[in-house]
Amino acid sequence: KKSDLVIVYHRQPYEEVVEDGVLVRRENKSPNGIVPTLKSFFGHVDQGSWIAWKEASDPSQPDFERVVEISDAYGDYRVARLALSPEQVRSFYHVTSKEALWPVLHAFRERYNYDPVDWPTFREVNYAFAQAAAQEASDDATIWVHDYNLWLVPEYLRQMKPNAKIGFYHHTPFPGPDIFNVLPWRREIVSSLLKCDVVGFHIARYAQNFAAVCESLVEIDAVERAHVDNVDDELRGALSELKTPVALTYEGRRVRVVATPVGIDVGFVEDRAEQAETSELENRIEEELGGKRLLLSVSRTDYTKGGVELLNAYERLLERRPELHGKVRLLLVSVAASNGMAVYEQVQQELEGLAGRINARHAQFDWQPVHLMSTPIPFHELAAFYRQADVCWITPLADGLNLVAKEFVASRTDGGGALVLSEFAGVSVELPHAVLCNPFSTRSMDHAIDQALDMPEEERRQRMKEMRSVVSNHTIGDWADDLRTAIAQPKLHSLSFD
Ligand code: UDP
Repeated sequence: KKSDLVIVYHRQPYEEVVEDGVLVRRENKSPNGIVPTLKSFFGHVDQGSWIAWKEASDPSQPDFERVVEISDAYGDYRVARLALSPEQVRSFYHVTSKEALWPVLHAFRERYNYDPVDWPTFREVNYAFAQAAAQEASDDATIWVHDYNLWLVPEYLRQMKPNAKIGFYHHTPFPGPDIFNVLPWRREIVSSLLKCDVVGFHIARYAQNFAAVCESLVEIDAVERAHVDNVDDELRGALSELKTPVALTYEGRRVRVVATPVGIDVGFVEDRAEQAETSELENRIEEELGGKRLLLSVSRTDYTKGGVELLNAYERLLERRPELHGKVRLLLVSVAASNGMAVYEQVQQELEGLAGRINARHAQFDWQPVHLMSTPIPFHELAAFYRQADVCWITPLADGLNLVAKEFVASRTDGGGALVLSEFAGVSVELPHAVLCNPFSTRSMDHAIDQALDMPEEERRQRMKEMRSVVSNHTIGDWADDLRTAIAQPKLHSLSFD
């Protein structure tokens, strides 16, 4: 039976582990809950399928299970797995996606490496994804494609399934034309995206950039923007979401553009935060801190995440404010990439060098100013660190959203803790009550960390209260509802804001 709903997402919707020589597939619990939320879409249809890739040294080997039938709490669905050879993975993922597309999406033009890209392989892998999706899908199925490494899938899919409803969601930022258009494949990419019924982004600014890129490259017949009633002219200009494009018409088709940030599973995070196991770990952390204030930063090791800028700001803090010596501790969790890419290894070495220098210059026998941890911490432990942190310090130079900020806020059922957040994390649009900073400015970075450390308790609690309300009012479930609504309403005429 063909599927009414097909989700195309690079990761498989479960964890595969070998236990006692036997392959076991189990639910991967993560606080953002994107995978379970996407799976919950299957509850609304008769038959669903998920397309993912799996590296296989010899894809033709008979024991490669191409289609896995799953029955779990979300119902019965199929997972169609695309076997990619190590060479395809390297070219498609490590080279084209990570060396060319990722830096451009995050506006790091100087890191953009065009030369090693093998575009025919990128096309070939995208085509294989489209083919797998088309094989699974009924003629009028809804097909949701996720993230930039599958940019060409809509183009191929539209040829294979002219009547399908195709949606595409970006989990990254989307830059304006001055940056995006350095990609030589720019027209091919946007004309593929314009074959969708819905194109989604985290925030309005990325949607605006996308519309501007499209207008700069192809003949767009009409751009519809949010139509706003009951707002006076002065306010109209000030609110960027009021200028958000809601639809683009291209070659006679209307493509809806939506901005809805990914949320988190707030219930899951709050439960975790309040479990006895978490309190036990919290007690151990508190004891270890011995009254020192904990500054916490958590991210993957990536030049976009601003780890170097953060360590430099911490070094300046210790130099500017010697009274803090012995009174603060920075825990920087920067999870090192295991993909062997030189660019990430270089960032990792830079972080290690800086952390080592700060400790060498400032450590005392009973005080280590910075702890750099590079192995991932499971979420139930992370929750205890979030709850013990005086300041959660997140300074990406560019970041699609940043879920760590939302997880920190959701973990603080006690109402405490301050959040210092870069303006260039998409989530800053949702969290204006964080202490916002510009990581490109040393003055702004210094001011923000001072402000967070010196903030009166009442103000800290008030800000946290506002942020908690935002995070609980737009959860991962609300994000999923927004996407479902967008694709179910191809004929939307105007959006009204109260
Ligand atoms: N994370 C984790 N353990 C760690 C570090 C990070 O479980 O040691 C998780 C974190 O809880 C969050 C995710 O990794 O859910 C990072 O998501 P984010 O949106 O902040 O950044 P991304 O890595 O997607 O760019």
